Amino acid sequence: MLAVECIPEDFYRETAVLGIAFDDGDITKLAQFLDLLLETNRLFNLTAIKEPVDGWSRHILDSLSLLPVLAKEEVKHVIDVGSGGGLPGIVLAITMPETTFVLVEATGKKADFLRHVVEVLELDNVTIANARAEDVGTKNGGFRDAADAVIARAVGPLQVLLELTVPMAKVDGIVIAIKGEKAQEEIEHSRKAMHVLHCEVESTNRSTTGTVVVIRKKDHTPQKYPRVPGEPKRDPIGGKLKK
Ligand code: SAM
Repeated sequence: MLAVECIPEDFYRETAVLGIAFDDGDITKLAQFLDLLLETNRLFNLTAIKEPVDGWSRHILDSLSLLPVLAKEEVKHVIDVGSGGGLPGIVLAITMPETTFVLVEATGKKADFLRHVVEVLELDNVTIANARAEDVGTKNGGFRDAADAVIARAVGPLQVLLELTVPMAKVDGIVIAIKGEKAQEEIEHSRKAMHVLHCEVESTNRSTTGTVVVIRKKDHTPQKYPRVPGEPKRDPIGGKLKK
């Protein structure tokens, strides 16, 4: 069944609660994206979700939960780190055509898929970077201090994610992480990383699908961050979280 034929009943109610009014064509494009995602998912792994109805209620809604914050901040330029199959970056780019998005994705196959989506949906506000965040967030990496907002979903623990994302945000810009139920625990464990990277938690908001954590960058990131690829995960600032 095509995604456009199985939008769950509560989708419009939930998006209305978020204050989202869709423009003509947004829903068609979101449905096309979901079809491409699930179709390609049969060839290689992009998502655990198999049914379009779950795609709407989990992936699309979860991605859209960032929209109110991005709109309030009047962001012009956003970077999505570890975009995978395009979440949340593609969904937000469809609904925010005036904002430019760079989707940073380390895996070549996934980056190719994202380029295909951009071409098919004619998203002229999206650029794909097949790269590691640790490389593009450095002084000569091209994206340091570049974004009004850096966004990420399901890209590791917050203390690691901060080193990957904060360098790419402008001073006074934000990082928004979509987290789960353990968001507060992750925040507590990220105190050292926030101190070192000159940023602080501004808000946490429970949505129906997750927890939206907004972090404000207060000053320039020290030159030594991000460290070389793999190092933020191998040796997280503040020590590894004990399981
Ligand atoms: N954000 C997507 C989502 O919510 O479905 C994908 C999540 S997936 C679990 C994590 C993705 O981040 C993978 O596609 C992986 O290749 C990418 N990734 C992990 N570390 C990265 C890094 N250092 N730089 C760029 N991409 C990275």
